[in-house]
Amino acid sequence: MISLLLLLFCQDGAQVFLSEKEAVRKVFPREMKVLRRDVQLPVEVHDAVRRRISRRVEDRYRLYLGVKNDKVVRYAIVTDEVTKTLTMTFIVGVDPDGKVTDVVVMEHREKVGAEVAKKRFLRQFRGKDLDDPIQRNRDMIAIVGATLSCDAAMRGTRKVLAVVREYLLDRPENVSSLITAAAPVKEERYVMGSLCSITAYGSSDAVDAAFREIRRWDGILSNYDPESELSRLNRARTREVSPELLRFLRECDDFRRSSGGAFDVAVGSLVRAWGFPERNYRLPSDGELQKGTRDRAFRIEGNLVSLEANAELDPGAIGKGFAVDRAVEVLRKAGVTSAFVDFGSTVYALGTPPGEAGWTVAVRDPFRKKKILGTIVLRDSALSTSGDYEKYFELEGRRYCHILDPRTGRTVEGVTSVSLLAKSATEADALSTSIFVRGFAAAEGSCMFVSSDPRAPVSMTPAWREGFHFGSAP
Ligand code: AMP
Ligand code: MG
Repeated sequence: MISLLLLLFCQDGAQVFLSEKEAVRKVFPREMKVLRRDVQLPVEVHDAVRRRISRRVEDRYRLYLGVKNDKVVRYAIVTDEVTKTLTMTFIVGVDPDGKVTDVVVMEHREKVGAEVAKKRFLRQFRGKDLDDPIQRNRDMIAIVGATLSCDAAMRGTRKVLAVVREYLLDRPENVSSLITAAAPVKEERYVMGSLCSITAYGSSDAVDAAFREIRRWDGILSNYDPESELSRLNRARTREVSPELLRFLRECDDFRRSSGGAFDVAVGSLVRAWGFPERNYRLPSDGELQKGTRDRAFRIEGNLVSLEANAELDPGAIGKGFAVDRAVEVLRKAGVTSAFVDFGSTVYALGTPPGEAGWTVAVRDPFRKKKILGTIVLRDSALSTSGDYEKYFELEGRRYCHILDPRTGRTVEGVTSVSLLAKSATEADALSTSIFVRGFAAAEGSCMFVSSDPRAPVSMTPAWREGFHFGSAP
């Protein structure tokens, strides 16, 4: 019943009951420590599973181990089965005797059959093992109107039981090696005004050094810190700057040019005219806006930078992406080949986690704060999202968001979010902002554009459509 209340209808008819995290929490009691491992079955195990249930099955599985007092006391596998033409995703918990503890449905994509998620049906799985038929009209009663989905759940449960039996229970050496498999280092710190987390397969020294690099760049680029080099330049108007700041400003200048002025790091006076930095929001007069759109260039001669009268540098649309790239450089130099730097709206995936195709990233639903719209798998690439929900104010039913068109001085309306992939985090960050301003027609590569009308379809480039998975599971 509760799961039905949480029902979320995605635009393609898929029904998401629970995120993977929530489902895992249901299967493993709090006192267990839960390890996640992505595994590929050795050929002989894969063959044995197939023989045992007399059908073809995948050889890669997302496995969870529940550990208590250094012993594995529960297993669970997340898996997909076809219901009619689409798949449903669910998790099956198994105890060390090879008996089902729980079956929890996470997502059902077919329009009909979602009643499979009812407790009344799923409860029947408890305690079953491979000696049970687990079949409709034998030891299981299907839900009328959802028989194909119920069959899929039964098939999938037998598959999970067979994998757990062959791969883990009958070959305990696999369990020990899964437990000791190198776990990544993960650290979270508050930097540049937001939470940043770095996950890396490697030493914690490398992760430390990466955070130090982000802090160092914050000392150069922050427009909140009056002592940063950027703040000093904003005050001095003409100043010799460090090679670092020069490099940053050159990149910004390139993005301004290539976006036709839709991205402009010198937009600070306009952002302030709307009251964003101090949250003392107001509607600027036409005169103010016009003034803010003129004389906003900056000149670079050698290491001397001079700002025109209305130029005020605001790194907000690119600084985090730039810092992410610098952190990744540090990780690479330290020999790390697999890491994930997560700065919230901008992330970078270096390499892949061991044995996986890439880093799975969730993209939040711009209309529902705690829900995700879907996932995408990244490898040596960055994802950035610009959203009108990050900072905005409302006046007389209109929303004024923190992203503005530097050419008119006005805040962008009609757009809720833009997410896009790029080779570097700098590029992803700058482009997500500039496409927000320019509109979907200007999008290239892999990009998703959500307008502010929740009923309007999401716009996607072909590359995004190919890589993005709506719903909770990859
Ligand atoms: P983002 O969330 O990366 O899209 O960056 C948005 C932030 O960048 C805003 O909060 C402003 O500080 C700043 N900004 C707003 N509009 C622009 C623009 N058109 N070009 C560059 N920076 C902008
Ligand atoms: Mg940006």
